[in-house]
Amino acid sequence: MERTFIAIKPDGVQRGLISEIVSRFERKGFKLVAIKLVVPSKEFAQKHYHDLKERPFFSGLCDFLSSGPVLAMVWEGEGVIKYGRKLIGATDPQKSEPGTIRGDLAVVVGRNIIHGSDGPETAKDEIALWFQPKELV
Ligand code: ATP
Ligand code: MG
Repeated sequence: MERTFIAIKPDGVQRGLISEIVSRFERKGFKLVAIKLVVPSKEFAQKHYHDLKERPFFSGLCDFLSSGPVLAMVWEGEGVIKYGRKLIGATDPQKSEPGTIRGDLAVVVGRNIIHGSDGPETAKDEIALWFQPKELV
C-alpha cells in the first residue's frame, strides 16, 4: 500500500496544531503507520531538503527545520502521496485554498507548518531518512 512522509514543522508543533493536523488525515481515512517527535540537526535538515540546496532560502529553511521539535509521521492509503499534498495545500499559504491545512492555518511561506513528500521516489527516500523499518507498524 502507498505510503508518504508527513512532518509537522517546528512552527506547527509550537503553535499547538498537532491534533488539528493529525485529525484531518485520520478523518480522511488514511492510516498512521509511524509517528515520533524529533529535533533534527541542521545537517539532517540539509539532507531532508537536499533538492533545494541551490535556492537562496535553503540555509534559513534548514535552520528553521532544526530549530525545535518536528512531528515526523508516515501515513498510508490509496493515493496518499498526492491527496496528502491536497490536504496540505499550496507551498505559499497566500495561495493555498481555504479548507487546506496551510490555507486555514498559515500565512507565510517560511512558516507553512507542514511538509509532505512530493512523489513516490521522495516518499520512499524521506521515509528511509526519518525512520528505521522497525518503527513502521
Ligand atoms: P514541503 O517540501 O515543505 O512540503 P513544498 O513541497 O510545498 O513544501 P518546496 O518547494 O519543496 O515546497 O519547498 C520546501 C519548503 O521551503 C517550503 O515548504 C517552504 O517552507 C520553503 N520555501 C519554499 N519557497 C520559499 C521561498 N520562496 N521563501 C522561503 N521559503 C520557501
Ligand atoms: Mg517539497
